[in-house]
Amino acid sequence: MSSTSEHGRKKHDAASAFRAAQASVLLNAVLMTVQIAIGWMAFSDGLLADGVHTLADLGADGMVLIVLRLSTAAAQRRAGFEFEGSDWYETAGSLFISILLIATGMETLWTSLSHLNDTGNGPSVHAAALVVAVFVIVAKEGLFRYIMSVAKRTRSSVLVASAWHARSDAISACVAVLGIAGSMAGVPMSDRVAAALIGLMIARMGWTLGWKTFKDSFARTAAGTTGR
Ligand SMILES: [Zn+2]
Repeated sequence: MSSTSEHGRKKHDAASAFRAAQASVLLNAVLMTVQIAIGWMAFSDGLLADGVHTLADLGADGMVLIVLRLSTAAAQRRAGFEFEGSDWYETAGSLFISILLIATGMETLWTSLSHLNDTGNGPSVHAAALVVAVFVIVAKEGLFRYIMSVAKRTRSSVLVASAWHARSDAISACVAVLGIAGSMAGVPMSDRVAAALIGLMIARMGWTLGWKTFKDSFARTAAGTTGR
């Protein structure tokens, strides 16, 4: 039996998975700060909404870190030992994030829709917002590729989900770019429409996560933790 080398590989995998999740936290913290600051200074509702989205992403990253840490702790105790507490933390954490996302999304949607027809002589969106939004697309797509490669190597389902999330964030940033570009081209409403769409995407992400968490925990309960 090569259980020692197997154990070593698992430990190495856990470390790589944790590093990937930490890289995501770091990148999202930087992106969130720049998006909200420039979104505010450059008068872009779309970029600001996407910055709020990235703030929610940080919460999701925190969840990934907790899940990875708990499963590593379980693996260290005994190989193949299922740490029951991690299910509970994962469920509670996921539900919390999902409610946060739905509330944030609805708030963003509501704010953008209520300002949709503001045609007042407000300042137009500055080009800096476009630069930041394009940078966010590149950064999130890069993050998707990096996390996906680690996820495949370490066979971590949590990281696979996190990687696809990063890809959907890149799409959300594309919407922000279109809105900003439209606004700069003389259609100020397009930036607010983009913000509303991003709000919808945030809420949908929360709904999907909440529904999946609900189904998973129901399936686990039904699958017979009855023998306790
Ligand atoms: Zn996101």
